Amino acid sequence: KLSYSKQTTNMQPIDIITLLAQLLDEFYPVFENNEMDYEYHPDASNFVIQGDATLLVRLFDNLINNAIKYGKEGKLLIVKTRTQKEAITVDIINFGKVIPQKDLDRVFEKFYRAESSRNSATGGTGLGLALSSKLAKRLGGDLFLERSESGKGTSFILDLKIDEAGRNLKLEAPR
Ligand code: ATP
Ligand code: MG
Repeated sequence: KLSYSKQTTNMQPIDIITLLAQLLDEFYPVFENNEMDYEYHPDASNFVIQGDATLLVRLFDNLINNAIKYGKEGKLLIVKTRTQKEAITVDIINFGKVIPQKDLDRVFEKFYRAESSRNSATGGTGLGLALSSKLAKRLGGDLFLERSESGKGTSFILDLKIDEAGRNLKLEAPR
C-alpha cells in the first residue's frame, strides 16, 4: 500500500467538487449494501485544485471506505466542502464507532488500529490512514481528525490548495 506514496506525482488542474460527486456516485452500491446513506454538501459548483487524480482518488477511497467500515451503525456519511480564497477543506463525517479520545493522535501511525477494531471482523491492516496522511502532504495539503462537538461523530478534514490557474476562475454558487 505504501508504495503508492513513492510513485511520481502527476499534478494537474482538477475540479475537486466534481471529482467528489463522481466518486460518491460510484460508491452508491457500497452504501446500499451497507444500508447507509450519504449526503454531499458542496459549497460551490466547482473548485479547481492542483492535484494528482490517481492519488486523490486513492485518498478519498481510503477515507470513504473507513467511514463505511467504522460508521456503518451510524447509517449516514456526510461530505462537505468549505471553499476559501486559496484553499478548500473537505469534511468527511461519519457516526457509529468513534475513536477513543486517547487514540485520536495515533490513528495516523502505521499499523495502528483503535482498540475496538482490533478483534473485530473489519480486518484491516492499519495502514490506510498512514498512507492517506502521506498522500495529503504530497498533494500539498494536510489531513486532520476531529471528534464532532457532540462526540458522536468522527470527522476527517482534508485541506487542499487552489490551482494557480484556478485563481481566476469565478466560484459559482452550488446548484
Ligand atoms: P486498512 O485501512 O489498512 O485496511 P484500518 O482501516 O484498520 O486498515 P486505518 O485506515 O489506518 O486502518 O485506520 C486506523 C484505525 O482508525 C481503524 O482501525 C479504526 O479503529 C479507526 N478509524 C479509521 N477511520 C475511522 C472512521 N471513519 N470512524 C471511526 N474510526 C475510524
Ligand atoms: Mg482503513
